Amino acid sequence: MSGLFSAAFLRQIGWDVDVYERSNVELVGRGAGITGHPELLETLEASGAGTLDLGIEVPKRIAIDREGRVTDERPLRQILTSWDRLQRLLRATIDESRYHLGWNFERVDQVEHGVRVQFSGGRVEQADILVGGDGIRSSVRAQMAPDVQPVYAGYYIWRGAPNEADLAPETLRTIYPLFTFYLPKQQQVITYPIAGFDNDLRPGKRRFNFIWYRVANAAKLRDMNVDEVGVQHEYSVPPPLIRKDLIADMYKDAREILPPALLDALMKIKQPFITPIYDFTAPAIVFGRVAMVGDAAANARPHMGFGMAKAGTDAQALAKHLRDHDDVDAALKAYNAERQPIGNNIVLHGRKLGTHLGVNLKTEEDRRMHDLLQSDGAMLDWIAVPNFLDAYK
Ligand SMILES: Cc1cc2nc3c(=O)[nH]c(=O)nc-3n(C[C@H](O)[C@H](O)[C@H](O)COP(=O)(O)OP(=O)(O)OC[C@H]3O[C@@H](n4cnc5c(N)ncnc54)[C@H](O)[C@@H]3O)c2cc1C
Repeated sequence: MSGLFSAAFLRQIGWDVDVYERSNVELVGRGAGITGHPELLETLEASGAGTLDLGIEVPKRIAIDREGRVTDERPLRQILTSWDRLQRLLRATIDESRYHLGWNFERVDQVEHGVRVQFSGGRVEQADILVGGDGIRSSVRAQMAPDVQPVYAGYYIWRGAPNEADLAPETLRTIYPLFTFYLPKQQQVITYPIAGFDNDLRPGKRRFNFIWYRVANAAKLRDMNVDEVGVQHEYSVPPPLIRKDLIADMYKDAREILPPALLDALMKIKQPFITPIYDFTAPAIVFGRVAMVGDAAANARPHMGFGMAKAGTDAQALAKHLRDHDDVDAALKAYNAERQPIGNNIVLHGRKLGTHLGVNLKTEEDRRMHDLLQSDGAMLDWIAVPNFLDAYK
């Protein structure tokens, strides 16, 4: 997404841009839900992608208890969208011939006034700049700043997106239309409605985004990363290969822990999958003529659901500085000066919200935040805010 945003914004200021994607096949979002923060909507409009049929509007965020009773709520009108919808809107901003599937970045060399970029298969491109929008495990960053590594947060999520049509009437009536939190000790369950297959927004055809945060130390995560046929994976197991015993244990816990509507939603997920949570910041996001954007530049834990907004606003800032400076190197320096601290703030904010889960509490401030967030109302005060970067400076 940060690559697509960068292409859209750079094109607007008259640059020729090509996007190189490692995957050989079109990417799909597995139903991943995305929160429509005001910054994301603004950047979608500014990029030319627009916000047509973006998603489903919810009026508020609520917290519920084990019996499903509402314990607290905060009004917050927000559109919930999906990865697939955003990808479709952004792809429409670029000429298809400038989007290249199956190009795997291998290395970049700084040459006079530009870069020489090598891809697998011996393919080489020359350009004025390289924008590294290749995600949390960025190969571009691995070359430019090999010491910067994502850090495991000590927790992971079970995820899935069941069909609205499969949910029980009580689930549909109570939690489906809202952004819902259930916050038992050392866990968080979060749900909200999202579009159905092929961005279907019609009632009955939509889906339901389900996320369940759970704690696991590094050793347990390593065990969970052994797949159904005994292969050890480094970061996560592809959904179809997740071990059946892990899924069975998860269902067993769910029956003991979850309120009925959340249990219903979980049981309707066809293929639950696991995402371990990592984050990192980097001391610099520009290296000569290489500029990092989005998750490759800094990656926050997903509590605020701000990654897409950050991808868009990084790209927008990069283009703004390139437009406003005659000198490319000065523009990239200005981009670094503006966006590196913002990336840092977003990551620190994610860590604050993550203290709720009670792992790796290192400082007095961590423990204070952890204690505060044990109250549903306090959590909503922190998490149900638009423009949180301004609200919590
Ligand atoms: C559980 C979870 C929930 C989230 N919820 C939200 C949310 O509600 N709202 C939100 O805004 N964000 C959310 N995010 C974050 C969001 O998904 C990312 O921030 C967003 O996708 C932007 O990332 P990106 O484009 O920078 O990187 P990515 O999405 O990781 O894209 C990087 C791209 O680079 C490609 N690539 C990688 N290596 C190479 C290479 N060597 N050569 C060529 N191409 C390569 C990859 O194939 C990929 O297509 C969530 C993330 C997680 C994990």
